[in-house]
Amino acid sequence: MARAGKDAGPFGAGREVEEDLRRRAAALARRWDPGDGVPLDFLRARFDAGLAWVHFPVGLGGLGAPRAAQRVVDEELAAAGVPDNAPGRIGIGLGMAAPTILRYGTEEQKQRFLRPLWTGEEVWCQLFSEPGAGSDLAGLRTRAVREGAGAGAGGGEEAGSGDGTGGAPDWIVDGQKVWTSGAHNARWAILIARTDPGVPKHQGISYFVCDMTDPGVDVRPLRQITGEAEFNEVFLTGVRIPDAHRLGGVGEGWRVAQTTLMNERVAIGGTALPREGGMIRPVAALWRERPELRTPELHDRLLGLWVEAEAARLGAERVRQQLAAGAPGPEGSGLKLAFAGLNQRISGLEVELLGEEGLRYGDWTAVRPESVDFYGRDAGYRYLRAKGNSIEGGTSEILRNIIAERVLGLPAEPRTDKDAAWKDLPR
Ligand SMILES: Cc1cc2nc3c(=O)[nH]c(=O)nc-3n(C[C@H](O)[C@H](O)[C@H](O)COP(=O)(O)OP(=O)(O)OC[C@H]3O[C@@H](n4cnc5c(N)ncnc54)[C@H](O)[C@@H]3O)c2cc1C
Repeated sequence: MARAGKDAGPFGAGREVEEDLRRRAAALARRWDPGDGVPLDFLRARFDAGLAWVHFPVGLGGLGAPRAAQRVVDEELAAAGVPDNAPGRIGIGLGMAAPTILRYGTEEQKQRFLRPLWTGEEVWCQLFSEPGAGSDLAGLRTRAVREGAGAGAGGGEEAGSGDGTGGAPDWIVDGQKVWTSGAHNARWAILIARTDPGVPKHQGISYFVCDMTDPGVDVRPLRQITGEAEFNEVFLTGVRIPDAHRLGGVGEGWRVAQTTLMNERVAIGGTALPREGGMIRPVAALWRERPELRTPELHDRLLGLWVEAEAARLGAERVRQQLAAGAPGPEGSGLKLAFAGLNQRISGLEVELLGEEGLRYGDWTAVRPESVDFYGRDAGYRYLRAKGNSIEGGTSEILRNIIAERVLGLPAEPRTDKDAAWKDLPR
């Protein structure tokens, strides 16, 4: 079994790794006292024992073990009935911010952010999309200017060292972001902003960690098709970000953002599921429980979707295994594309199967949920929420472009704005 890198822990291979992890997990589980009530101390102890994400380095919640070995720890702890970190509530932190911080963060940033991110003490959100920059994310307008450099200034380097040592001036950020899931619960955000309008659009972006409690951050709810306000528009006015909260070099934000986006697609489409898990589960259960709803035509469609769901589940399993050997590549786009289409077709079948009943909708209250709960609500919610699956994390059209260009090697779309300075692009 492959090692995770130079920080690899004291592991041999194969079963030896498994047995070692099981022993460590069992020892940790013995430390949990249900009478404690608050699981925070236990979650911190789990992180410190390296059993949070075992493929992370020692000292950062991991043991440098193979990524696939996480399953062993999760199984052991679940069987012991200990609390987990409620991953659904902190999906953006776990799935997107953490791998980016691990890859591009300084040692100080990793030490500061990863532990409370994993335990759920600090929730993260993603300030990427803007009203005029979604699919064309690199066209974003939000500006980050070194304090004292003035908004007309080009890059940022001329006003400071940009070496992340803490000596460089702060950044002042102004702009608007949109569709920001969970911003109302977040302590931190991963943020991309334009630091140099004088160079081509992909080159003038830098990547920051933004404090959502800064007085210049204004979070306003956006109600969506489900009735909930799961996401927000976020106005940034004179938000001060220390240079020590920059991830990666000045002007290198686009490269850093690729790590976030590739991980996002795997996080959305690559969740580990049991057979007949995910969206197909409630429909299959309904089919078994309500024979009066069945027709031969619906039977045929259900079986077709069941097979597709199983193929997608196994495909996700394979990509997760490939991940053990490195960072996610464009294959994650295929997963996310398949997941989105399937979720929409399966939830459509569920509503159709229910007939008139399927048209009823349980709750239109504009609640501000902590996470997306596909299975705690009715078929109508699943049907409406699944519509967002083909938009969030890159639309299905954009993912097809990525697969065409980067997986199949087909000719690229013409891009006339690639080499011109961002400030000269028509808007
Ligand atoms: C539920 C949900 C949660 C989200 N959460 C977040 C979040 O937390 N943080 C965040 O930053 N963003 C978030 N988003 C935003 C999401 O990333 C964007 O909506 C998405 O990237 C599309 O951008 P857009 O909405 O501006 O659409 P546009 O980019 O304007 O696209 C409009 C249409 O044109 C098509 N299109 C555009 N360009 C091309 C092209 N080159 N080729 C073919 N077709 C094209 C698109 O596929 C789409 O159908 C979320 C979105 C949803 C639905």
